[in-house]
Amino acid sequence: MVKNEPFVKNKLKVGLEIHQQLDSKNKLFCKCKIIDSTENDLTFTRNLRPTQSELGSYDQAALFESKKIKTVKYQSSKNSNCLIESDEEPPQMVNKEALEIVLTISLALHCTIEDELHVMRKIVIDGSNTTGFQRTILVGRNGFLDVDGVRVGIQSICLEEDAARIINEDDEDVEDRNKIFSLDRLGIPLIEIALEPISNSPIFVANVAQTVGRLLRSTKKVTRGLGSIRQDVNISLDDGPVVEVKGVQQLSQLALVIEYESKRQDGLKQIAKELKKRTIDDSKFIDGITDVTDLLKRSSSKVVKTILTDDSRFMAFVLRGFKGILSFEPYPGIRLGKELGELVRSYGIGGIFHSDELPNYGISSEDVKSISSILKMDKNDAFILIGGSAMLLNTVLIELFDRIKKSFSGVAPETRSVRLDGITVFSRPRPGSSRMYPETDIPYISIDNIKLKELSKNIPKPWNVVIEQISKKYGINKTLAENIFDSHYFSLFEKIVSQTSLSPSFVVSKLTEDLVSLERQGYDSSILTDELLFTLFMHLNNSRISKESIPIILEKILKREVNDVDEVIKSLGTESITEEFVDETISKIITENKMIISQKGFDAIGLLMGRCMAILRGKIDGEKVNKLLLTKLTEHIQTANGKNI
Ligand SMILES: [Zn+2]
Repeated sequence: MVKNEPFVKNKLKVGLEIHQQLDSKNKLFCKCKIIDSTENDLTFTRNLRPTQSELGSYDQAALFESKKIKTVKYQSSKNSNCLIESDEEPPQMVNKEALEIVLTISLALHCTIEDELHVMRKIVIDGSNTTGFQRTILVGRNGFLDVDGVRVGIQSICLEEDAARIINEDDEDVEDRNKIFSLDRLGIPLIEIALEPISNSPIFVANVAQTVGRLLRSTKKVTRGLGSIRQDVNISLDDGPVVEVKGVQQLSQLALVIEYESKRQDGLKQIAKELKKRTIDDSKFIDGITDVTDLLKRSSSKVVKTILTDDSRFMAFVLRGFKGILSFEPYPGIRLGKELGELVRSYGIGGIFHSDELPNYGISSEDVKSISSILKMDKNDAFILIGGSAMLLNTVLIELFDRIKKSFSGVAPETRSVRLDGITVFSRPRPGSSRMYPETDIPYISIDNIKLKELSKNIPKPWNVVIEQISKKYGINKTLAENIFDSHYFSLFEKIVSQTSLSPSFVVSKLTEDLVSLERQGYDSSILTDELLFTLFMHLNNSRISKESIPIILEKILKREVNDVDEVIKSLGTESITEEFVDETISKIITENKMIISQKGFDAIGLLMGRCMAILRGKIDGEKVNKLLLTKLTEHIQTANGKNI
């Protein structure tokens, strides 16, 4: 560990919140089955407006969201929804199975269990819930777990309902878009484990998350697969403002996120330091807010032209004493200009232009001069230019000024989302604490000690014992046992091994190593469903495909060249591969090359094998071809020799 790493010199604090879907039969507050649904039987819309909490205050995050969204569309499916998800009927009693899973995990993590459990409403206004709140039950508090000899505290363990699934998240035209949510996941029981802040290296934090994840999987009562476990990470430096990074899905991402955030936050602190040096009057440094639309209409910049449509305007303003600040880069990619760009993008505006990076984007030095002179710029000043619909600009400018003012104190408390490479992106201001109030539709639940005693028998065995048992049961080594148990495919593995005669270690290596290597090549393995993979292994078991063809088939599916295993088999021509065909192919190759064989004898086998595989590759195991070829070649040579005699 390097001493001047930002997380070392700044006293990093990381609070983890781990959310994991529970593998219960039904949802938390209704009897609906837990299935992903592609069918859409009913669509309805709701308008969002911020709800006041019991104390009468508006939540800042709620207000922020309500500025952006107008209407939300919901899709409901008969298979996975009833009237409760669409908030047309009150919730039913808490799912007992889900509650018992969370109680067992709370006991395993040495938590104090409440005598009475109360259902609470937590305000959410991003549209991900039809009610405008999420129901949550505090089950356990003040527990702990030991990781690498270090004790890590557990703040709380809650049983919650999962939110609806957004369908059009990746759409680019955010400005006027309506969010669309599928209700299939709404109401799935989740466990939320909140850990005490950890002051340690990013790697250690990742180890903690792995240990908790393994404990959860050891119960065999949690769902696996991408998206079934999500981590929210609260990161702060030197007890500064907390930044919440939401939705970290992979362990490998976690350490990267923490490293990136500690650099970003340290960078923002350095920018604040630089601002302080300049003795800028922070009460009046934002100056000369001017509409420069007419001026920019004359610009030849293509970027400017695309922004300037019907009702859009360009506004410019000065930041006194800010010259060089917006592009100051304490760490690669960490700049105040970039932070401001992300903020306006969250409102659907393409970004900002600022004087530190201009002329650029087709905005000429002439344009810059004109803007500078209109704004009465001084040599130490900077300006920001922002274009978009007039209505949107009013809101965005206020938010932008607010964010620039916050840069004097360094880090701004906010919620950020995460990319696969660990880089975080602004999503909204951090929600305040006025978010919870009691659910009045559901009575409280009493917990008695007899019940707890009974449940404590279900506490999973320690990780090493679990791995040893798997290793013994399937005759695989501990590394393979760990790999498969840590992967999304453990239950699939068990199913394949129980229904085929394939060797367990072979199945593990295909489900872990092969898939990981394809993921590393950049393929999205989430399209490989358990069902699809199971079909593939069944075909292998029935000798319809060869071992060798598995990676080829997987790649074809991942490249989306085909939709399913049967289609790929047809396209490879593997379907017609009968023993007869292989037999005929080899005989044909031998006949075609009998001259070479008569000269080289058995030395011709390499060449013959090459020609056979040119036809049979990916359709049958090479070893089988080799064996058969050798037999046939021996026969051929013996017959030929016989003729000669
Ligand atoms: Zn339901």
